Amino acid sequence: MGGVIGIEGRKDAAGLVHVGLLTLQHRGQESCGIAVKEKGKDVFNYFTVNGLVLGKFTGDVLEKLKGENAVGHVRYPTSGSKSGILDAQPFIFKSAHGNIAIALSGNIINTTEVRDKLAKEGAIFQHSSETELIVHLIAREKLPIENALKKALAKIEGGYAAVMLFKNKLIGFRDPRGLRPLVLGKLGKSFVLASESPAVEVLGGHYIRDVKPGELIVVENGKLKSTFYAKPAARQNCIFETVYISRPDTLIRGMSVAQARMAMGAKLALQMKGIKADIVMPVPDSGFFAALGFSKASGIPFEMGFVRNHYMGRSFLRTTQHMREIVAKLKLFPISDIIKGKDIILVDDSIVRGTQSKKIINTLREYGARKIHFAVTSPEIIAPCFYGVNTPSKKELIAATHTHDEIVKEIGVDSLTFITIDNAAEACGGNEGAKGFCSACFTGKYPTKISKSTLEAR
Ligand code: SF4
Repeated sequence: MGGVIGIEGRKDAAGLVHVGLLTLQHRGQESCGIAVKEKGKDVFNYFTVNGLVLGKFTGDVLEKLKGENAVGHVRYPTSGSKSGILDAQPFIFKSAHGNIAIALSGNIINTTEVRDKLAKEGAIFQHSSETELIVHLIAREKLPIENALKKALAKIEGGYAAVMLFKNKLIGFRDPRGLRPLVLGKLGKSFVLASESPAVEVLGGHYIRDVKPGELIVVENGKLKSTFYAKPAARQNCIFETVYISRPDTLIRGMSVAQARMAMGAKLALQMKGIKADIVMPVPDSGFFAALGFSKASGIPFEMGFVRNHYMGRSFLRTTQHMREIVAKLKLFPISDIIKGKDIILVDDSIVRGTQSKKIINTLREYGARKIHFAVTSPEIIAPCFYGVNTPSKKELIAATHTHDEIVKEIGVDSLTFITIDNAAEACGGNEGAKGFCSACFTGKYPTKISKSTLEAR
């Protein structure tokens, strides 16, 4: 995951990126940062910090982040160390081309091979994150920055989207399959690049379009240049962006994530036709719109049977089993008179290890649920993701190690229905139709080569 935003040609660039990062906070909570550049000066003003965006960029900090071009990042670690400040982005590098600030979301899958090769050639790495690879690869090319960047990107493989500052340019690029999202927007005369469209809209700007797979965008003095650095590959948008990761108000393929999730709920209602229940209720938050869609399509009343606490920090002490149970309840609290004595359709976005689902279902039983029919808006996850979504290894995935009946028994439901891959793709397709989605975590068929060392690491 992780989220990025960049803006060119605004006096208040750091403040705007700060607001954009607040909008992208759900994409990563480990660390955050902003790098800003003043026109005509080859130094960056920057600030990176561990933890959430809110409260970190005080007036004093923003005052020091002077400049017209800015990039920002929220980090969710998918490789490297867990929360070291050294891995907080944007990264700033000196290179023969000039100074570079870069922020990347996603994952480069041939990191080990490229890193080993560069290390043998004498490269010294400062960060455990793979973003640094791109800068090392750029540094080896004696070409103008855009051409050097294109050559560097041709050597890496993965699912990523990035924003970069170089001289007076804001640069953005997206992997050749479009696995990770990046949108282009406009705020007045300035262009904005961001992982999700609400980060543009919250600033008072508007979404123009998705950055195309393999596209390299360079913005300088309000002028935009678009070129491509990779031959067109079959498009493979990550369907989990719609199922789970993105905000409901984000536009993907011209449709809001909320609408797509409602459509997934309606598809599940059809798949589960014949199952009777008193209420449909979501596991908040990502099950909300799907449960609403299920309810509208089936006529079964929608109820909110859980209250979710959004203010739970990660640092809460969980030293004993009793403490862990209290924390779980603090996060998701059941409303007993909605649940008691009811036959329930429970809607959630996915089953990964199954442990979370089991806890939720146990809680519903404790609070008097009679029957629980579980509707899941992603197909069975049977393989890990290598493109920036932090799924565990295959042996930890319940759908990879258990039959359908075993999962039903293990998590304790009366019935279990996963949306089919075709139904998920149709619901999420927007104005581009059902084709062009990655489904590797449901099929184990990856859209790129995965090296033996990468596979073995999972
Ligand atoms: S493997 Fe799954 S989570 Fe990863 S990019 Fe593909 S669809 Fe998304």
